[in-house]
Amino acid sequence: MTTTIIGFPRIGHHRELKFATEHYWKNKIDQAELQQTAQTIRKNHWQAQQAAGIDLIPAGDFSFFDGVLDTANLLNIVPDRYKQLNLSPLDEYFAQARGYQNGSETVKALPMKKWFNTNYHYIVPEFTKTTQVQLVGDKLFNEVDEALALGINVKAVITGPYTLLKLSRFLDGTTPNDFVADLITAYSKVIEKLGQQGVDWVQIDEPALSFDVNSAEKALFDKLYQGILAVKRSTKILLQNYFGDIRDIYNDVINLDFDGIGLDFVEGRYNAELVKKNGFPADKVLFAGVVNGKNIWRNHYANTIDFLNGLNTQAKVVLSSSTSLLHVPYSAEDETKVPSDVKQHLAFAIEKLAEIKELDNIYHDEADGKVALEKNNALFNNVKHPYNEAVHERIDGLSDADYTRLPARSEREKIQKKEFNLPILPTTTIGSFPQTKDVRQNRAKLRHGEISKEEYDKFNEDKIRRIVKIQEEIGLDVLVHGEYERNDMVEYFGEKLDGFVFTQNGWVQSYGTRGVKPPIIWGDISRTAPITVAASVFAKNLTDKPMKGMLTGPVTIFNWSFPREDVTPKESVTQIALALQDEVLDLEKHDIKIIQIDEPALRENLPLRKSNWYSEYLDWAVPAFRLVHSKVQPSTQIHTHMCYSEFGDIIKAIDALDADVISFEASRADFTLIDQLVAAKFQTEVGPGVYDIHSPRIPSEQEVEGLIKQLVEKLPVDKVWINPDCGLKTRSEDESFESLKNIVDATKKVRSEI
Ligand code: GLN
Ligand code: ZN
Repeated sequence: MTTTIIGFPRIGHHRELKFATEHYWKNKIDQAELQQTAQTIRKNHWQAQQAAGIDLIPAGDFSFFDGVLDTANLLNIVPDRYKQLNLSPLDEYFAQARGYQNGSETVKALPMKKWFNTNYHYIVPEFTKTTQVQLVGDKLFNEVDEALALGINVKAVITGPYTLLKLSRFLDGTTPNDFVADLITAYSKVIEKLGQQGVDWVQIDEPALSFDVNSAEKALFDKLYQGILAVKRSTKILLQNYFGDIRDIYNDVINLDFDGIGLDFVEGRYNAELVKKNGFPADKVLFAGVVNGKNIWRNHYANTIDFLNGLNTQAKVVLSSSTSLLHVPYSAEDETKVPSDVKQHLAFAIEKLAEIKELDNIYHDEADGKVALEKNNALFNNVKHPYNEAVHERIDGLSDADYTRLPARSEREKIQKKEFNLPILPTTTIGSFPQTKDVRQNRAKLRHGEISKEEYDKFNEDKIRRIVKIQEEIGLDVLVHGEYERNDMVEYFGEKLDGFVFTQNGWVQSYGTRGVKPPIIWGDISRTAPITVAASVFAKNLTDKPMKGMLTGPVTIFNWSFPREDVTPKESVTQIALALQDEVLDLEKHDIKIIQIDEPALRENLPLRKSNWYSEYLDWAVPAFRLVHSKVQPSTQIHTHMCYSEFGDIIKAIDALDADVISFEASRADFTLIDQLVAAKFQTEVGPGVYDIHSPRIPSEQEVEGLIKQLVEKLPVDKVWINPDCGLKTRSEDESFESLKNIVDATKKVRSEI
């Protein structure tokens, strides 16, 4: 056994699982048919791995929605309100994942959160006083049996107890420690049962070790594993980490009775230092994550082999992916439109299997290893990313002044108050208006060549005309054009910027049955033509009210794309920032005097370790944002928008973006953030969302009035804006118009009382 992977994409080669699951939800197929589809997908995936020469093949990594939820259900960590629905196990599972509605009976879904620093989302398990942790499920065991019956050499995969506890919510005053004993018993039973089935290796995933681990957490980890490993028999246990390094707990891990330790040598480069400095036990197997599970580029074999040799360990080494391959698309072979010079550098999941096998051949001096190495060397000797001299000259010429907007924000605030003469508590929206069916159909028709570009534009212009009028009737103060031309806030800009490449089938699971198709950064990035100017100017000419221009920020465009590996993130983000600077200045030249630069993804890519937040990320991400807007006139007002309310801990960095106004999600966060803003003496004008657009609920005028009053009690009234908490793209028109009307009327009421 010398090769393995941590996990494989679940959605199927042609997203079969998505379509089958959604059909099941719509009652178009029954549970048996869904299970049949799932079984076929698993079989195909196992056989693809077997055919590629992978020795040890994961089972249990398949999921109908999410692996953390699978583990919670396996161990009976299911809140009573779902059990009381008396559904079949699968329907109970889906009820937790996406909520349940049957006539008057409704139960909300469990919360969903981003999975570490990826764009995948997991379901947050809930522990309460009545939670009885015990082994009740059979999904894992059934899948293992299925694989064994097919002659697959199985490695059973399960989310580890430490990560499970770290990612869960604890209610009714419960704490993680209350469940340690039962978790030890339950995990021991899982391992015992797998052993009886004939499984050699069990992979226990503990990505949460990539966070900072303090001494209490270390004690928790030790207690869990001392317990679990004490009753271990012949079944071998692999402790699998990913998304970083395990510096805080490396010594504990190597001294526990694990049979194998899986380390990520891509993002967790520092793991190599740990292995070299602290040693790696010769009697354990080192599962070396050397093929990047999170990006789509081919592995540079010569470098990887040098790296492996440099580890200088006596231990047996098994080659693996750095993370589950869940984060990359299925196969690059499906991409018929990607230019061939780019395509030869792509490795999606299927290609990564072959890479692991080839690396193994090279590492072990097998005969065909040499050929593979030569071929790979030739590829890397010839790599030519489009080089744009002008972009490099521009970056070389940057100085501090390019990152500094003048005069200071407090001065600009006075100038802008005069310039726009808005009422106090100005009202606005975040940008998009509902993307109704006709809007999507119009885009599809253009894509299929059924209408001309002129017809397409004409349709959107009619939409803009209508929405400007509606916003005026509602009485909003700062208007938007509605973003009808955008399918997606990142793809839209990627398509217009030089340097990006797009896939046709490069789907990656985001959550449940939802996928994203991230653009690929391939060359130097620049703007070759105006992007949003025509739509913004068209809208502006329809009204006397200020029209807000609408852009996606550099960090968000970068974070939601597949990045290059031959240049630093800082370099790519700076290139995007300069391209957007051109757009901002162009908008300003065309008299668009309020410009919003959205950065919903700024917070989500914070490094997992707090000590790296600034040095490895914010120290360049924040200046990149400033670069976009530093050259505008003092009277031009720059807005930004963020969707995650949990930015209390990076308030200073957000203020340092030096925007004039920020809107953010707050309606669900019971406004605790407001206190934090006050405490931090936040300088940017703020629009905390007073309407939760993630729910179909229409907030009443009284309700919004209450929220506004709370806001102005705490914040200086001349610094507060009133707006929804995100774009209205996914809502219906009736809901949004009525909600906005209530917001505007409530604002007017509060104004009249001030
Ligand atoms: N301007 C975008 C919109 O309104 C912002 C979307 C977002 O923050 N995710 O749709
Ligand atoms: Zn948002």
